[in-house]
Amino acid sequence: MNKDTKAMRVRLAAVIVVFALTLTLARVSLGAGAAVHTIMAYEAVGMVTDKQLQALLQENLSSLVIGAVLPDGGYASDSLYGEMSHWPPFHSAYFDHVESQCGRASAGRSAWRSERCQKLIAHMMGMIAHGVADESYDLLMDARSQYLDAVDSDSPLIARDLLVDKYALVDYGYALELFPTAVSPLEDLLQVFRDMGHNLTREELMNGQQTMIAAAALERLVTNVYSDIQDSAIYPWLRNNYRDQPGGVRFTAGALANLWTFYWKRLQGRHAPAMPTLFPGPGYALERSTRDPWGRIHFLSDRPLDKDSLIAHKAVAIGRNTIVLVADNAIVITDAHTGKEIQGELFYEEEGYMVSFTPWSWSSTSSTVYRVTARARLKDRWQQQVFPGGRSWLISVRGQGE
Ligand SMILES: [Zn+2]
Repeated sequence: MNKDTKAMRVRLAAVIVVFALTLTLARVSLGAGAAVHTIMAYEAVGMVTDKQLQALLQENLSSLVIGAVLPDGGYASDSLYGEMSHWPPFHSAYFDHVESQCGRASAGRSAWRSERCQKLIAHMMGMIAHGVADESYDLLMDARSQYLDAVDSDSPLIARDLLVDKYALVDYGYALELFPTAVSPLEDLLQVFRDMGHNLTREELMNGQQTMIAAAALERLVTNVYSDIQDSAIYPWLRNNYRDQPGGVRFTAGALANLWTFYWKRLQGRHAPAMPTLFPGPGYALERSTRDPWGRIHFLSDRPLDKDSLIAHKAVAIGRNTIVLVADNAIVITDAHTGKEIQGELFYEEEGYMVSFTPWSWSSTSSTVYRVTARARLKDRWQQQVFPGGRSWLISVRGQGE
């Protein structure tokens, strides 16, 4: 082969890769990248304490992996299923479907042991994990990178979700065992969407899946130790912290292990005690600035919450003829010393799992300790109390100049 022609072909291939990556990623601008999703799921399998569930996930890792990346394929291929599959109404519908096919209550004691059920359960756990991981990653890790790693460019080639994937691919040896290879249970998924009142086509799901497989290949093609030198300089805080800090790989994997345990027990007709993941957790204190995501309180549930039980109002008479509605939420923040409720904004999106609280401001004295209380009236999607008797946690705010 003539040398010039070879050079030309290499250049052309690079152009195609860049073009395809741009197309794939243009619409996927939020959330963790696909490789990070699979690594979080993989780490979470190692943290699951129920041995039967852990073995099921380990033995069906390829179904878990394709489930964990599938939701973003809907954005890339412009299908409704993308946004829908990120949120609990879909998670619940998928769970109901799996329960009817494989659950102990409706299908017999050991139906879940069949090969079909094992794959289906692993795939469902992957899909459910995706939306929860996005909430955790977006509100803690991605938001803090936005806050600290200001970059004045919206080029898709340096989008944070692509670069965090490239960081992870270098650190995890290209995560080859997590390359998506399995095929999603398309007929089951079509049925789940029909149960939700949406007639999707097989092609929509197939296109989404193919896009994610292509993206996984392309990301690995454009990642190497040299690209990492450039990439690492773009979001230095993210580069150094995406694995070990809140919202990152290990924090989110811990939350996913709790989430899977909840759904797993539920599949067997049992109700697991709630295991939420809280920020600030042990070893952390809140930052004083509420512009910093670490200056806000984040409560990541291990089960879908009932929105009406979480966010409520009560009527209060303030005069003979005046009644006002005031917030009476099931998660409240108080000054631990005085018991006074802290005013602020409770953020809860699309019936998701993450509840975040941003106060109007934190106290200016450095020694204030706050109490986060989840009231007994908080219910999950099945109308069961999340914390019978309620639960509370003490948290502190970092002092001035600390
Ligand atoms: Zn996503």
